[in-house]
Amino acid sequence: MANELEKTTYRFDTQRLRAGYDPKEHNYAVSPPIYQTTSFDFRDVEHAKALFGLRELGNLYTRIGNPTVAVLEQRIAALDGASGAVALSSGMAAVSYTLLNVAEGGGRILTSPYLYGGSADSFKKVYPKFGITFDFAKNIENPEKLAEEIKPDTKAIYVESISNPNGVLLDIDAIAKVAHEHGIPLIVDNTVATPYLYNPISHGADIVVYSATKGLTGHGNVIAGLVLESGKFNWQSDKFPQFSEKYYTLRDINDNNRSFLEVFPEAPFTGRIRFNYLNYFGAALSPFDAYLVLIGLETLSERIEKQVRNAGILAEYLKTHKSVEWVRYPGLKDSPYHELAQRDFPKGAGGILSFGFKGTTEQREAFLNSVKLFNYHVNIGDARSLIVNSPQTTHSELEPEEKKIADIPENLIRISAGLEDPADLIADLEQAFEKANT
Ligand SMILES: *Cc1c(COP(=O)(O)O)cnc(C)c1O
Repeated sequence: MANELEKTTYRFDTQRLRAGYDPKEHNYAVSPPIYQTTSFDFRDVEHAKALFGLRELGNLYTRIGNPTVAVLEQRIAALDGASGAVALSSGMAAVSYTLLNVAEGGGRILTSPYLYGGSADSFKKVYPKFGITFDFAKNIENPEKLAEEIKPDTKAIYVESISNPNGVLLDIDAIAKVAHEHGIPLIVDNTVATPYLYNPISHGADIVVYSATKGLTGHGNVIAGLVLESGKFNWQSDKFPQFSEKYYTLRDINDNNRSFLEVFPEAPFTGRIRFNYLNYFGAALSPFDAYLVLIGLETLSERIEKQVRNAGILAEYLKTHKSVEWVRYPGLKDSPYHELAQRDFPKGAGGILSFGFKGTTEQREAFLNSVKLFNYHVNIGDARSLIVNSPQTTHSELEPEEKKIADIPENLIRISAGLEDPADLIADLEQAFEKANT
């Protein structure tokens, strides 16, 4: 689906509405149609052979590709400046396929202590059984010392651009430099920031992963994930033989076996995820869900802009409240991440903030039981404002010692700012604080 739009220099707000889709190629339908079909007919036997040999890229079977899903892949690739993208059925599928693809056969991943709960827990519980071990870096915030923690079999560095629930920001440029000096890629989970607030590739990331479930779609109605690549990393190295390995399934017209680097020179990483992991492990995004993500993307900029504004207003309100011990939001002037926020997040440092509830456990629970407008659940990035006690829910997998390292105190309450009138949100928190204190 070659598209004139991708080759132009349209800006972000135009691309999020139009990249990857040309109505002329879809019966002039304005909104991307949902191609709700399992398979696609071959024109003839030659066509079937060409598709199976990847000599021609086209639609074959929806598990490995679908026109609606392809619009989403091309659109997000345009927004992030990526050379390739693959959509998957969840953020966790994006994380796991990425890590398996990079560290196939075993090795180590150097990572940050500030991670999504599901990532942190799977890193220590699941991957070691596949020969992939994680080192939780002590120096992720001191990149000049980070090199000391890279071992001979370290295959990648993995971080989040804005961590949840803490809002920790990292110097991604400096971390990328360390990774590249050691011939390994930097993988960035950009879920909380979304491409509207942060472009990891322009800061040196090689692979970007998203849970599109969150701010990207923004309506709390879909589970989806994406993996993108910069196209700049050199995979032709002894550390990553899987990209040079020749496969019979990738043979050319003269029956010579080929590698993913030969077949997808610009996007070997996502090409390999599609044809090995998505194809055989099967976490395919449905065309309908891809459509929902596309609809969400159409308003990405306006939603995130307002969420950032509401998060800032809520942070300032909470700072002055007597029942609040502390507030963490990188947009606040007294945040330890304020300087990085100013430098790398000119449009704001996200819609997530957290605060320490001052009071007993009973009071904290009474407060949560008393909110009426905020939704009490584990999602983030929704158009509605959400609240949750992360240490007891989203990050309850972490053992006490790990919570200490990840800096998640027991009294932490996380807010994901939505699009409501901030005065209503403040009034809701105010009445809940009052109930907790009586
Ligand atoms: C939610 C989330 C994930 C997992 O995504 P799902 O779509 O729920 O599978 C991964 N990383 C981060 C930062 C998340 O917030």
